[in-house]
Amino acid sequence: MREKTFEERELILEMFPGTSPELLPPGEVLYYRDSVGRVHIQEDPLHLILEPLESTPSTAPVICEACLRHLRRSAAQFFRFGVGEDERHYRYVVLCRSTESCTGAARPERLREILLRGILP
Ligand SMILES: [Zn+2]
Repeated sequence: MREKTFEERELILEMFPGTSPELLPPGEVLYYRDSVGRVHIQEDPLHLILEPLESTPSTAPVICEACLRHLRRSAAQFFRFGVGEDERHYRYVVLCRSTESCTGAARPERLREILLRGILP
């Protein structure tokens, strides 16, 4: 069933390359951390890179926006990403500091939502 969805997505992208990402059937969402600490959220052909920020001194617990778990501040990390073409327009997101532990619990719909926030103005 999932395979069929991927094919449909690829077909639409091939035939109508300008299709708005919101209208595409869901594909496989990749969510990983690279060697310099940036987090990547990827759903072909979209690719969002999140830049880690220094944590704030506050100790209030926060919720990871990808897996929706409550986190102690020390287990969470703030990230920012540029929106659309404008390099100076940033949005912020809180995610688990450990992307590896988050990946298993994160829902693809949540990741897709974060991804679209960076792509759509
Ligand atoms: Zn998480």
